[in-house]
Amino acid sequence: MIQDVKDKSELMLFGIPASPGIAHGPVFRFLHDEVKVATYEVSESDQEEEIKRFLEALEMTKSEIREIREDVAKNLGEKEAGIFDAHMLVLEDRALIDDVKKEIKESGENVEKCVHRVTQKYLDFFDQLEDKYLRERAVDLRDISRRLQRCLSGTTASGTAFLDEPKIMVSEDLTPSDTAALDRSKILGIATDLGGQTSHAVIMARASGVPAVVGLRSLTEKLSQGDELLIDGFEGVAIINPSESTLFRYGKVDVQRRKLLNLIDEESNLPAQTADGKSLHIWANADTPEEVQKAINAGCLGVGLYRTESLFLRTNSLPSEDEQYEEYVRMVASSGGKPITIRTLDLGGDKLLDGWNQEREANPFMGFRAIRYCLSNPKVFLDQLRAILRASAKGDVRIMLPMISGIGEVVRAKELIQQAKEELKIRGEEFDPDIKVGCMIETPAAVSICDLLAEESDFFSIGTNDLVQYLLAVDRVNNEIAFLYEPHHPAVIRSLKHVAQVASENKLPVTVCGEIAGDPHFLPLLIGLGFDSFSASASMVSEMKFFARRFSSEDVEKITMDAEKKYRPSEVKELIKNFYEARVSEVSRTKS
Ligand code: PEP
Ligand code: MG
Repeated sequence: MIQDVKDKSELMLFGIPASPGIAHGPVFRFLHDEVKVATYEVSESDQEEEIKRFLEALEMTKSEIREIREDVAKNLGEKEAGIFDAHMLVLEDRALIDDVKKEIKESGENVEKCVHRVTQKYLDFFDQLEDKYLRERAVDLRDISRRLQRCLSGTTASGTAFLDEPKIMVSEDLTPSDTAALDRSKILGIATDLGGQTSHAVIMARASGVPAVVGLRSLTEKLSQGDELLIDGFEGVAIINPSESTLFRYGKVDVQRRKLLNLIDEESNLPAQTADGKSLHIWANADTPEEVQKAINAGCLGVGLYRTESLFLRTNSLPSEDEQYEEYVRMVASSGGKPITIRTLDLGGDKLLDGWNQEREANPFMGFRAIRYCLSNPKVFLDQLRAILRASAKGDVRIMLPMISGIGEVVRAKELIQQAKEELKIRGEEFDPDIKVGCMIETPAAVSICDLLAEESDFFSIGTNDLVQYLLAVDRVNNEIAFLYEPHHPAVIRSLKHVAQVASENKLPVTVCGEIAGDPHFLPLLIGLGFDSFSASASMVSEMKFFARRFSSEDVEKITMDAEKKYRPSEVKELIKNFYEARVSEVSRTKS
């Protein structure tokens, strides 16, 4: 139950545990880019002053862009930094500057309103254009317009590059593109008012090992200037201005966790198997070459899920075939010959590009997302398919199709893969002609027809994050109903068992790749339901292997039988949590 507890000056808030770990430190209030546009009338005698404010804001914005450009050039390379040259061109555009000056004089309104009106006029024009390049300029203009508004209103930019010490990032909500833009070395933890356990921003936080608590409802409202924050990503608690005794208590939890992490680390090179020697196949969910490297070092078999939309979100654009190819080849190169499962574009839902999906859908997760978007935009899809196919000439690459809900989608996607192959043949480019194509099982429809999908697939991968939301009809990013988002639900358990059985009957490899695959609590149950292949965030792999060595096939059988007899998700949750804790604390005791 969510409640707030006040204890002297400290204030405890309960939310949703999103990424494990304890973090304590000063607060950085992350501002979203939307800035309220002030509107008021300006007398004729003050109009010159407004124009002066406009020109000053232009200069400030230019120096902000210059700094970002330098930073990006240093950290990511000159090519990526080039994105900001277009921003500079917009800021120096005479027509735009003259239009704003004219608007100030003619409307008799303040500069903020005039900048808004003029940039909106240009944006409306860009939005109607067919040409992709020109439409992308609209994204630059939108960014510039927000920056100008921020300079005019004196609020801080939302990036983290300027942070001089690591802080806990606090925000009402976070989008995946916000998280993609964060400098993670400067973020101790993340706490948000909104969001669910498997929102994509949170998955990215978990992948980088940053503790996070979401769904804290009124946190941002309750924080004041200079407050400190402690977050407990295990239990989903945030404490504003923790007292000495709270810090002491959490210090002890932190020490225990670190002790366990040291034990886990000592065993990280041991093979992935249960106590009685049953082998497990552990893959990684990785979106960058660095994450692939980390996963390979952790002993993963390869990449089981590469979410390609991460490149689109990082660059806030639709990258060209060549840009995608370069990124995929970098991924392949960092895998040292191990397989990379490239999931085709899964934009939509909570993963939107700026200015890409203007009219927000009423139900974005049930809307124009993933394979649906790709099949309706064959040009975008073919660009990606050619890039993936070209990368398949450089290593072991597989294609995975997200959000499949009907056989027709798989058939059509395979036709487009064939078309992409033929186009490459004509161009004389190399690719793997036998590239494997698999389906994600993440809709209830796909579970029901997995026997049919098996005939069209080389492998299955179960996306439990979406499967839970669609099966239980619970929006995965809505904190109001987060208590209903229950991967322990019997409906989920039965669906998983069904897919495992059908895959086995069809001799089709199947992997679980949603967040529960990397949650050690679930491991014995998933093995008992018939899985031996898991794709998880690299940061969880050692802990999974550590726990697997603490139970046998007999334990697996017993816990699965017990779980299948439970009617309530909370009972299953308790069962697997108690089992994990008993086995893990046993080790901590014997080793201390
Ligand atoms: C899933 O749905 O479980 C999954 C792995 O895909 P995503 O989280 O990117 O939707
Ligand atoms: Mg999914």
